[in-house]
Amino acid sequence: MEKIGIYFHPETFQAVKPLGEIELTGSLPDFEYRRGVIRGSHQDTLELRSTGIEQFTSVHDGEYIDSIVKLSRGEKAEITISMECQQLYYFIPGYEYSLGGVCAAVDTMKSASKERAYCYALPSHHAYPAKGHGYCLLNTLAAGVRYAQSQGFRNNLIVDWDHHHGDGTQTIFEYDRTVHQISIHSAIDIYMGMMRAHKLGTTTYGEKVGHRNIPVLDVHYDEAFFNECEMEGEYYRHDTCLARFREALEDLPFAPDMIWIFDGHDAHREDLGADVARWDYDDFALLTKAVLDISRKYCCPVLSMPGGGYRNHVSLQCMNQHIELLETYGK
Ligand SMILES: [Zn+2]
Repeated sequence: MEKIGIYFHPETFQAVKPLGEIELTGSLPDFEYRRGVIRGSHQDTLELRSTGIEQFTSVHDGEYIDSIVKLSRGEKAEITISMECQQLYYFIPGYEYSLGGVCAAVDTMKSASKERAYCYALPSHHAYPAKGHGYCLLNTLAAGVRYAQSQGFRNNLIVDWDHHHGDGTQTIFEYDRTVHQISIHSAIDIYMGMMRAHKLGTTTYGEKVGHRNIPVLDVHYDEAFFNECEMEGEYYRHDTCLARFREALEDLPFAPDMIWIFDGHDAHREDLGADVARWDYDDFALLTKAVLDISRKYCCPVLSMPGGGYRNHVSLQCMNQHIELLETYGK
């Protein structure tokens, strides 16, 4: 078996105009910086590929895509996106190359030339069918799942360990029996400040729509606060969440044909997870190994892509360790 599929091509951050003319906000410059650093030590083994923007209509409304295209051309359009997504509509070529990389990885898995891959793509998991927030304008992961299904990978397991709930991905695949998401995330995160979105991340709501949520409560919050926020269901603590995660992996609704990882690093104890999951690098290694164990149990491929992270040194070490495990664990 060849080494894993690696896709860190610079085109995944290509915009419709020079980057100097786009006011990049928040963590986006860091996201691109990290891509460049990782590419320095991990050679691309997947061919550069681009899809058309219309391939995103497998998971997004056509009108939403049309509005993004208009905005990228400087035209007016009605759209529901948050402030952090305002500049992302200039990155249509980047999204097309990102989804192209994911499709290229799926093709190598179909031909059995590769069984694991890590594909760089702008973050996906907060992008809904017709709404974007939290630096997620388009859901490359979800569109990748639909492509994989078109290639015969029917049952898809998504594992999302970003500090924030994979609300957009969950919404795209709610009540879909061929896709199951396990999201382990902060139960109440003031940084995101959207209680409506938090409620989608409860155990109760996840079960209702066919997915598994593992909300982790900040050490400073007690049950009364959880209830005051009108949150339903169970919550977990930093010292119980990993056991719950393993249980969830052992209790899948189907035998997966493909496993997807949304590899966020912001739950690290030196990032936003200081008082929540409190994970260190060893915990991140455990997360990766637990998923790879499941992939070996079901003999199915694993395709991973980066999620959020706000500390470059943390994200770089997490990503390097994760990619190394993809290359070596169980081989
Ligand atoms: Zn996040």
